[in-house]
Amino acid sequence: MENLDFSPLNKPLIFDSHSHYDDDRFADSLDSTFDALSKSVKGIITCGCDIDSCEAAKNIAEKRDFIYFVAGIHPGNVEGITINDIPKLMNKIQGYTKHKKCVGIGEIGLDYYWTRETEQIQKEIFSAQLDLSLKLDMPVVVHDRDAHADTLDFLKKFKPKGVVHSFSGSPEMAEEIYKLGMYIGISGVITFKNAKKLPDVVKQMPLDRFLLETDAPYLAPVPFRGKTNNSSLIYYSAEKIAEIKGISTEDVLKYAFDNTLKLYNI
Ligand SMILES: [Zn+2]
Repeated sequence: MENLDFSPLNKPLIFDSHSHYDDDRFADSLDSTFDALSKSVKGIITCGCDIDSCEAAKNIAEKRDFIYFVAGIHPGNVEGITINDIPKLMNKIQGYTKHKKCVGIGEIGLDYYWTRETEQIQKEIFSAQLDLSLKLDMPVVVHDRDAHADTLDFLKKFKPKGVVHSFSGSPEMAEEIYKLGMYIGISGVITFKNAKKLPDVVKQMPLDRFLLETDAPYLAPVPFRGKTNNSSLIYYSAEKIAEIKGISTEDVLKYAFDNTLKLYNI
C-alpha cells in the first residue's frame, strides 16, 4: 500500500460525507489510516454497496467514534439479482438502518456508464430503496452516472431527503435538486482540469445545499490525482471551491460540515 498524503491543516472541520473504506486498497492499513485521520478530520461516512460491503461498513463504523455508515445496494452491484430477491434485500438493508451508526440509505441509484443491460433491475432496486427511505424517514445517498434524466425523474417522484453524490449534472439539474430540498456532493473532480460543468455548478450553488466528499479511494484531488484518496484530502476540494466562490477555505469546510450534520442528523 502506498503512503497516504494528508491535509496541511491541523484539525480542520472536515466531514467526508462519502467514502469506501471497505475497499481492498485500505485493507492492510485500516487502523493506521484511521489513527492518522482521527487527527486530521472530524467525521467520515463510509458507504455500503452490497450486503457484504454493508457488513464491512458497519464493522468499520462500529469500532470508531468518528465514523458513520450508510447501507444500500449500488447500481453497479445488481447483476444476478431478480425482482423476487428485492423484499429480502430490503429487509437486510432495513436491519442495518437500525444500527446506531447507520445514518442513511446508500449508495443507491442508476449507472448507465458501464452497462444498460441491467437498467430494468437497477430501476426496481433504486425504487425499492427510495421507498424504504421514505418509510424510515432516512436520507439517501444517490449515485447517478450517465443517467441524469432518469435519476431526476425518480427523485421528483419519491421526493426523498438526501444527496446526489459526486454531482456531475448541469447547473439546471442542480437547481432541480435544490428545489426538491436535496443536496449535491462535491468531490475531488472540482480540482480536475477537465471538470467542465462543475465549476459553473459550484459558482451558482447555495452554501446551504452542498456536502464535501472524497469517494475515497477514488477521485483524489489535484495535486494527488490518480493516487489513493483519503478523507483529509477534502481540503484541496474545499480550497478550489473557496477560490470559485470568493470565500475562505475554512468557511467552505464549515458550511459543508454543518450541512452534513443537518442532513444526516448527527
Ligand atoms: Zn461512492
